[in-house]
Amino acid sequence: MRIVAIDGPAAAGKGTLARRLAAELGLPYLDTGLLYRAVGRRVLDAGGDPADPAVAEDAARSLAAADLARPDLRTPETAAASSVVAAIPGVRAALLDFQRRFGAAGGAVLDGRDIGTVIFPDAPAKLFVTASPAARARRRWLELSAGGATLDLGAVKQDMAARDARDASRDAAPMRPAADAVVIDTTDLDADAVFALALQAVRARLG
Ligand code: C5P
Repeated sequence: MRIVAIDGPAAAGKGTLARRLAAELGLPYLDTGLLYRAVGRRVLDAGGDPADPAVAEDAARSLAAADLARPDLRTPETAAASSVVAAIPGVRAALLDFQRRFGAAGGAVLDGRDIGTVIFPDAPAKLFVTASPAARARRRWLELSAGGATLDLGAVKQDMAARDARDASRDAAPMRPAADAVVIDTTDLDADAVFALALQAVRARLG
């Protein structure tokens, strides 16, 4: 099973790394955060409360491909809603099969919060990518600013801390490194250095 599981907090560099690893290894890539973002977005659009299990589960069960292609999945509002719906067990259950089937076909690189612990606990290669809260907030702020948003760095940092705390403290599939994950701290590394370290670890595990 050629599964590369990449977990870690927001803006640690998981997405960039996952995309590069997938290209290098010739595997498909799934950004699982997008699934939860799309569910959160659907609930907000319908005027619902992301913390309402019935509403959120319904949105998760009826998720369609078009929901994942929306341009507004990266906004701070959607990010906050995504971590609220993600704490609901029924939402996670509704999204589980899709993630497993995606990887089971011929292997894959997946990034998220629970890939190495819940979705693919037997994945041969697991990485937990992290960085200091200050470095992650700055990266996210730069990303959002480059996209045209005018946001305060302090507010971005606060939102991210709230989201990380929610993701790490929930009962359903909390964010944490799997016991057999290689932890990479990207605080003082550029994308090339992170990629080199990760590729070495993944090759050693995939054989
Ligand atoms: O990775 P991203 O920041 O896009 O994820 C958005 C939110 O989706 C996270 O804050 C988390 O609450 C949730 N998520 C999750 N499990 C995953 C991926 C994302 O709970 N595997």
